[in-house]
Amino acid sequence: MTSSRPPLNRALAEFGTTIFAEMSALAVRTGAINLGQGFPDTDGPEEVREAAVRALRDGRGNQYPPGPGVPELRQAVAEHQSRFHGLGFDPDTEVLVTAGATEAIAAAMLGLLEPGDEVIAFEPFYDSYAACIAMAGARRVPLTLRAPSFRPDLDALRAAVTPRTRLLLLNSPHNPTGMVLTREELAAVAELAVERDLIVVTDEVYEHLTYEAEHVPLASFPGMRDRTVTISSAGKTFSFTGWKVGWVTASPALVSAVRAAKQYLTYVSAGPFQYAVAEALRLPDTYYRDFREDLRRKRDLLSDGLEQAGFRVFRPQGTYFVTTDIRPLDEKDGLAFCRALPERCGVVAVPNVIFYDDAEEGRSLVRFAFCKREDVLRESVERLRRL
Ligand SMILES: *Cc1c(COP(=O)(O)O)cnc(C)c1O
Repeated sequence: MTSSRPPLNRALAEFGTTIFAEMSALAVRTGAINLGQGFPDTDGPEEVREAAVRALRDGRGNQYPPGPGVPELRQAVAEHQSRFHGLGFDPDTEVLVTAGATEAIAAAMLGLLEPGDEVIAFEPFYDSYAACIAMAGARRVPLTLRAPSFRPDLDALRAAVTPRTRLLLLNSPHNPTGMVLTREELAAVAELAVERDLIVVTDEVYEHLTYEAEHVPLASFPGMRDRTVTISSAGKTFSFTGWKVGWVTASPALVSAVRAAKQYLTYVSAGPFQYAVAEALRLPDTYYRDFREDLRRKRDLLSDGLEQAGFRVFRPQGTYFVTTDIRPLDEKDGLAFCRALPERCGVVAVPNVIFYDDAEEGRSLVRFAFCKREDVLRESVERLRRL
């Protein structure tokens, strides 16, 4: 090296390597069951896989697809928003296909923010949020969701808005806490956004995974349609996290801003998979219902097992993660606990502290994923009982 300056730029220096890399490597090395990273251990529907094969064989999507996404998928996304949420979007100007929700989040931050802007986001944050806000040169302002309910403090939200606030970055159903915003909470957020003229970017990748709660898109509230960037993805809904097909729905002006950044990130991606996801989105209601019921059973199986093993369990209203508190096990430090867990009982989990700015809030919390086969969850519960 010819310079004393470290190679990594200052915006990213605080982030290091994502915890999922460390924990998944630990799972491989120790042969432990990986309930850390949130990927299903069963692939999505056979007919959707076949649709991808067909597209590939028929030469659809093997070359650069159109920048905004293939028309078939944009049309299917628009139909899905109308079918499930009663929201109308023009597939040509109001839908943008991205390389997963991850790229949609990055492109939204890069396309909408300027240095010095403030972004209010729920803490614990999904792990890419803080890094994307930093890459855009903006400042994150955390709004802490506290156990046991993890409900947002709406007065604190109102108080956090300053003249520099450019946007709110929301996530509901919320990873990792499983909190789902209620109609009343969403109405309050909408009212604030309109009053203070804020854009809201809302990550709704778990829109089909709610249990006792109901998912209502923020874009459906008065005044919100044209100031909301809604993000979703095929990864979680159809159990194809490796395909990286996501999308944005928003007004033409907001879609253009996100696309301006997106075109210089990946430009386009996942050509043949886009056609397959168009078919997936049109699956009958029974698919969506069975998927949710399957995950509900798994949530209960793992939550009950964790309770029996001595954890304090915050049973989630949505997502496929359950957050626990390890203090009843006479443990305080989630990071140390997760590093030792594979050796102690052959299970990998993720320490929630990595999702917080305020480390004290997350220190004793640990997240487990239940998007796994039932026999795998049963075996995990058996092993956790040995603690
Ligand atoms: C998994 C996840 C994402 C990333 O989605 P991809 O489509 O895989 O990029 C984004 N946000 C949340 C909250 C997630 O859990």
